[in-house]
This record gives sequence, structure tokens and C-alpha cells, in this order.
Amino acid sequence: MSDTSQICPICGGKKTKGKTTLSADLGSGVVVVREVEATICSQCGEEWIDDATARKLEDIVNDARVRQLQVEVAAMK
Ligand SMILES: [Zn+2]
Repeated sequence: MSDTSQICPICGGKKTKGKTTLSADLGSGVVVVREVEATICSQCGEEWIDDATARKLEDIVNDARVRQLQVEVAAMK
């Protein structure tokens, strides 16, 4: 039984757990979120985040939009 969830669908490389930095453009500003837990392909660098992490990111982005900041840098804990 092979575990395909650990294989990158793009290049066939091996996925590993790691941290990444993501950014979102709000139009009026930019949010940068550091320390985001992600699964990253060790070969091509493609990144995946899980649903719980995606929801947290959404909260951070919405908060920045409400406050109308031009640049927000946050770190996910
Ligand atoms: Zn890959």
C-alpha cells in the first residue's frame, strides 16, 4: 500500500512538513503571514495548507481588511 498523500502530484517529489510565509493582496493593502504550517514539496517547492490553517489565515486577512492597514505582517502561532 503506497501513501500517495506524501507524494507531490505535480512533480512526484516527496512532501515534507515545514513553515512558509504567505501573502494576500487586499487591493487597499497587503497582508504577510509568517510561520504558517504547511506541507511543502522538497523538490518543486509547491505548498499545501490544511483547512484549519486556511481558516486562521482568513481571520488574519479579514482583520487586516477591517483595519484598512496598508501593510500587515503577522505570524501564525
Ligand atoms: Zn513537487
